[in-house]
Amino acid sequence: MTAILSDYDQVRASFSWQAARAELDGLPGGALNIAHEALDRHVTAGKGGKVAIRWIGKDGGHRDFTYADLSAETNRFANVLRSLGVAPGDRVYSLLGRVPELYIAALGTLKVGAVFCPMFSAFGPEPIKARMAIGDAKVLITSEALYRRKVADWRGELPHLAHILIIDADVPTEGTRSLSDLMRAASSEFAIVRTRPEDMALLHFTSGTTGRPKGAVHVHEAVVAHHITGRYALDLHEDDIFWCTADPGWVTGTSYGIIAPLTNAVTMIVDEAEFDAERWYGILERERVSVWYTAPTAIRMLMKAGAAPVRSRNLSQLRFMASVGEPLNPEAVMWGAEAFGKPFHDNWWQTETGGIMIANYACMDVKPGSMGKPLPGITAAIVEKTEVGVVEAPRPMTIGQLALRPGWPSMMRGYLHEQERYEKCFVGGWYLSGDLAMQDEDGYFWFVGRDDDVIKSAGHLIGPFEVESALMEHPAVAEVGVIGVPDETVGEVVKAFVALKPGITATDELNLELLGHARKRLGPAVAPKQIAFRQNLPKTRSGKIMRRLLKARELGLPEGDISTLESDER
Ligand code: ATP
Ligand code: MG
Repeated sequence: MTAILSDYDQVRASFSWQAARAELDGLPGGALNIAHEALDRHVTAGKGGKVAIRWIGKDGGHRDFTYADLSAETNRFANVLRSLGVAPGDRVYSLLGRVPELYIAALGTLKVGAVFCPMFSAFGPEPIKARMAIGDAKVLITSEALYRRKVADWRGELPHLAHILIIDADVPTEGTRSLSDLMRAASSEFAIVRTRPEDMALLHFTSGTTGRPKGAVHVHEAVVAHHITGRYALDLHEDDIFWCTADPGWVTGTSYGIIAPLTNAVTMIVDEAEFDAERWYGILERERVSVWYTAPTAIRMLMKAGAAPVRSRNLSQLRFMASVGEPLNPEAVMWGAEAFGKPFHDNWWQTETGGIMIANYACMDVKPGSMGKPLPGITAAIVEKTEVGVVEAPRPMTIGQLALRPGWPSMMRGYLHEQERYEKCFVGGWYLSGDLAMQDEDGYFWFVGRDDDVIKSAGHLIGPFEVESALMEHPAVAEVGVIGVPDETVGEVVKAFVALKPGITATDELNLELLGHARKRLGPAVAPKQIAFRQNLPKTRSGKIMRRLLKARELGLPEGDISTLESDER
């Protein structure tokens, strides 16, 4: 199959956002609504009978929703919201696992012109309350169990919260309503609200890896970027079966787990269950997944189980594999090639950017360890702050801030209620990502580390990613997090926290062996001076290693905001 982006330089040279916008329908009078682009226009074009979502329940059973089904269900949901007095701009939150109602709520909310804010269902009561307070939540869609455990105690404390809709209770608790009752009474006809492209559509909280999560505001215009990046960076063709493993509680699970696949009219898989290597391979095989978008943390878990389980499957349909969320170690790219016969394609973006910004494309050779090149329409550079302001760093391979020229459609329009924090991101005509990277002579970008995570040792800048990747090459290592520990002589020394593969015992000999391996690979200036073994590393619920927490614990400092921390073993 030919890649949609078949000639990177040529497409980049002729690209315009206006032309990308023309691939979508729009609504009369210059209006634009994500849900129209995702669903209704396909139904109008005669594709209503095609399966939009194949939902796989925890028990392994499945339910299919065609584009026409989803269009009708989201119409009902929009009618429900309207009957409750929800107006354009109001905030509708969800607190749900990956159940069909989540997808219906997301797109139905957009149809009525309201703003959708998905929350990850494993959050505790406090983070949920805090996020709902920041966004002035008017409606919450949740389940009976989640409501009782996480919301009931404080629901009276949020003055804006008018309605709680429960998806699975026939006789709902006092103060809540049954969504299915309301849906049954609602019409399946709805005229989508003619939202303006700049109207707020989505509120996404960042992962909280570096500190207190920020609420990034996104508008309907973002769909232009979702759509085109789905084509260019994920190579979505209309006959693809696409599986994005991310939860919609994180931006990837919405931009690429709802919007991009549907605007591109593919069939997408939603799995309700959590990660399980055998289950995932089963889904890839049985559902004949052709494009798969996942994350380094999952890939590292699959690597733990080795290549044999992959080889025993028939994955001949699987054409393109991509990864996002954290740096993808070269070892993981190579493992993909060994186990699946094709590499993982790393790509880079953030909650703030709303869509993929830098990617390895189907038409390009993957350089293992590199994030790839900027999307058509995106200008990326490595910049440095100097006395004369922000300037582009000399090429190749100078470490600097990864910066983007503002102006693409899915760029955040603000951090909700945090204007100052937002304005700080823009300096000298650039959006500064807070990540450090380098660019090579061929234009590929290489991740170094987050600004806050970079280690300064004896005048060198050491990126944790480089050190982690070197340790990952060792067959005993499953996961690594690297930090700098203050040192009187050299400023900081490198310390690595290592989780071993199952069945491998942490011994002093192995510790020495790993130190030696790193030293050989990296040289004495960059190699870790200390290695500590851990059962698990502290991670965000979206699977990112929280180096700031490793550091705070190492130094006995306050842990800061840990609302997104997955329970971990120290
Ligand atoms: P917070 O901003 O609250 O600290 P976060 O930055 O982890 O959390 P997200 O917006 O979910 O929240 O993640 C974006 C960040 O994830 C990027 O800035 C980068 O540090 C990291 N990241 C994403 N993709 C990649 C990648 N392919 N390679 C390296 N890092 C990546
Ligand atoms: Mg961030």
